Amino acid sequence: MSGTAEPTVFERIAAGEIPAKMVAETERVIAFHDIAPQAPVHVVVTPRIGRHRDVVELAADDPELLAELVSVAKGIADDLADGQFRLIFNTGPAAGQTVFHVHAHVLGGGLKEGSLG
Ligand code: 5GP
Repeated sequence: MSGTAEPTVFERIAAGEIPAKMVAETERVIAFHDIAPQAPVHVVVTPRIGRHRDVVELAADDPELLAELVSVAKGIADDLADGQFRLIFNTGPAAGQTVFHVHAHVLGGGLKEGSLG
């Protein structure tokens, strides 16, 4: 866990301080449309609270919460993308991570076949 003081943008969304288009909520997890979508369906799934910086920290510290993120992602894909989706955890700045509160990107709908990009 990072343990730093400043709340991230996703914690501020969870607290209702920044608006977002919510698509799913559980006791521990929220999901909302990404502000800059990279696919026809692009939803961010993230814990409401907790200071796990990335998926590696989350997997080590709270695997049940990680499993819940995946379960919520699957539900969103079922609703919005015929159950088929790409699940991305950017991990580290050099890998494109910009928000250091663990989150998954759910990408779906009209993705290019066979592409990793
Ligand atoms: P990362 O690059 O850390 O994996 O993902 C951060 C994501 O959060 C980016 O895709 C970015 O577009 C999204 N994002 C950043 N700020 C906001 C915001 O205020 N609202 C929403 N809905 N998405 C945001």
